[in-house]
Amino acid sequence: MAIRSAKFITSSPTYEKCPQTTLPEFAFIGRSNVGKSSLINMLTGIGALAKVSQTPGKTQIINHFLINEKWYLVDLPGYGYAKVSKTSRKIFSDMITSYIQNRDNLHCLFVLIDSRLEPQKIDVSFINWLGQNEVPFALIFTKTDKINAPTLQDNIEVYKKEMLNHWDELPTIFTSSAVTRTGRESIIKYIEEINKNTKIILRDN
Ligand code: GDP
Repeated sequence: MAIRSAKFITSSPTYEKCPQTTLPEFAFIGRSNVGKSSLINMLTGIGALAKVSQTPGKTQIINHFLINEKWYLVDLPGYGYAKVSKTSRKIFSDMITSYIQNRDNLHCLFVLIDSRLEPQKIDVSFINWLGQNEVPFALIFTKTDKINAPTLQDNIEVYKKEMLNHWDELPTIFTSSAVTRTGRESIIKYIEEINKNTKIILRDN
């Protein structure tokens, strides 16, 4: 699937204000600075679609982009900033949790993980929370151009082990780089497959 069009639709300050739609939605989330904006720009092929942030943590908004007039790409606020007040740092804001728990058309939440780091407590607890809440999610290990291939594999293995401490099954895992564009095709293909299967289910009904 080629991304033929990507249109910014709206920024929503709360889950309730998100666009009313039945189109499938795919959301991206991760710790501040993980490379979320760069990944969104790389996937859509539009350089400035999601702003590459200079001041992490400032904007707590949900951004909706309409892709190919068929599905929504959703840019969720980053979590885990070091430099904001305790109140706004509240790990997973009510806005994020209510969006994730209530958005019926959310088909997959892509959780971005910095491939250079060992498992971070905040990411692991978020992933566990997703599992407990039966949220469909996949992991994307970002910035892979910054480490060599064996280190990347080692880091992913450590993550898998950590997850297997809590869960019997592992989620789908992608690797990405906004610099080399690694991951673009496989992530878009994954979204396309989910969209195809969704249509079949709708027809069967
Ligand atoms: P966000 O806060 O998660 O949206 O992260 P950004 O996309 O703003 O990226 C944070 C910083 O990491 C910026 O300086 C980016 O240029 C850099 N960055 C993001 N993705 C990559 C990547 O894949 N490779 C490299 N080398 N740098 C990246």
